[in-house]
Amino acid sequence: MAMTKPQVGLIGLGTMGAALALNIAEKGFPIAVWNRTASVTAEFHAGAGALAAQIVPTDTLAGLVAAMAPPRSIILMVPAGKPVDDMLAQLAKHLAPEDLVIDAGNANFHDTNRRTAQGLPFRFMGIGVSGGEAGARHGPAIMAGGTRQDWDRMAGVFRAIAAQADDGTPCADHMGEAGAGHFVKAVHNGIEYADMQMIAEVYGVMRDGLGLTAPQIAPILARWNEGVLRSYLVEISAAVAGAVDPVTGGPLLDMIVDAAGQKGTGRWTAIEAQNLGTPVPVIEAAVMARNVSSRRGERAAGEALYGPAPTRATLPVGDLEQALIAGKILCYAQGFTMMTAAADEFGWALDMPAIARVWRAGCIIRSAMLNDMAEALAQDPTRNLMLAPFFADLLRQTTPALRRVVAQGALHGLGLPALSAGLAWFDLMRTARGTANMIQGQRDYFGLHGFRRLDGLDHPHGPWASS
Ligand code: NDP
Repeated sequence: MAMTKPQVGLIGLGTMGAALALNIAEKGFPIAVWNRTASVTAEFHAGAGALAAQIVPTDTLAGLVAAMAPPRSIILMVPAGKPVDDMLAQLAKHLAPEDLVIDAGNANFHDTNRRTAQGLPFRFMGIGVSGGEAGARHGPAIMAGGTRQDWDRMAGVFRAIAAQADDGTPCADHMGEAGAGHFVKAVHNGIEYADMQMIAEVYGVMRDGLGLTAPQIAPILARWNEGVLRSYLVEISAAVAGAVDPVTGGPLLDMIVDAAGQKGTGRWTAIEAQNLGTPVPVIEAAVMARNVSSRRGERAAGEALYGPAPTRATLPVGDLEQALIAGKILCYAQGFTMMTAAADEFGWALDMPAIARVWRAGCIIRSAMLNDMAEALAQDPTRNLMLAPFFADLLRQTTPALRRVVAQGALHGLGLPALSAGLAWFDLMRTARGTANMIQGQRDYFGLHGFRRLDGLDHPHGPWASS
């Protein structure tokens, strides 16, 4: 029996696009595909096995459009930036107004806002897809932006291909208009940087502070993964710490160069948070640490000049688990606060509990704690998570250990930027009488900026104004 003409198409059969196309075909949606390099399309189709029957390979963009039944929905999986604009310009020559193009790459949400506003001659939405290649193939988390009408049109496909949370809910949802989906994906990636950095920091305390070997650290992380910290990133960190190097037979982790790469989405989040006036210091610290990690020569010169970290830390391993729990809560509290500000700024109806639910499976930051976050946010979506009763209890229990860990790091020369930033933010946020009265005094002294008085009396400047 001939296949019905697909209504779903996909452009860009790279790592993510190929996996996503197979996932869509596997869920029973016929799909037409096109790739800039035609040989890639042919190889993809030849390697699709039984799913090849659901897939229509095409050699040209015109061919892709002709192979599909209107109204068409075409997913773009090409590198963010100019390639997306170029593809949209080319598609404009072929598509009808009711056709829909879905940019599923890691676009900067400002670009998605711009593309939505620019009046493309077809419908357009931007979606964030998380979970890497395995996620795209077997179930990603999908954060969709665009109109509700276009979401409704695609929801069946997105929900079918998405990961499912433990309660069976698909991890695909509509985040809001225009760039909202890509924005939430960027915050997800920023949190991903921070979660990874905090795990790396406690690994560093175990290695350099407590003198533990990678094979000793692996079961500790694996044990943490059975508790409050249960998450994909702690799970894979245990596996990474436990891996044996096939070349030397020693721990593989000890052979990996300590310079981390990045594609910039964590940096976007940190910059955007500053623009919104709701900083995310744990994420900023994680971005900073990645940048510092790549300055290996300078770091080696620093160690030669100042010597290695002087002495061993003294603290129970349990403190590190508690510190990681506290750091994680504080990082997410910052991320959700930032998203609340963005919803106001950009006029998006971001649904905070829905975001926490979408992140529960399929994506890199999936964790057990997101269930509790979704519940806490459902009770009060705009509340800073550190003020939510459930997390306040957890923070009361875990912040003493976070203090001990950060203090040991400071005493023994172990850099813990993300955990320290989380603690400093927590202390600022739990101090009713801060220190910005001094800043306001200084500003008035040199710039006559004025200040408000606690007693409400009208006294716009200090006595220095007349001197
Ligand atoms: P790849 O490099 O594996 O694939 C890129 C694809 O885009 C190829 O099919 C390539 O075609 C095509 N392409 C590149 N430039 C152009 C262009 N100018 N015009 C048309 N097609 C072009 O990338 P990924 O699959 O890893 O990433 C795709 C998108 O998904 C990116 O935005 C990325 O940030 C995002 N993403 C990636 C994740 C990952 O884990 N890899 C996770 C989540 C999102 P050709 O064969 O001709 O080179």
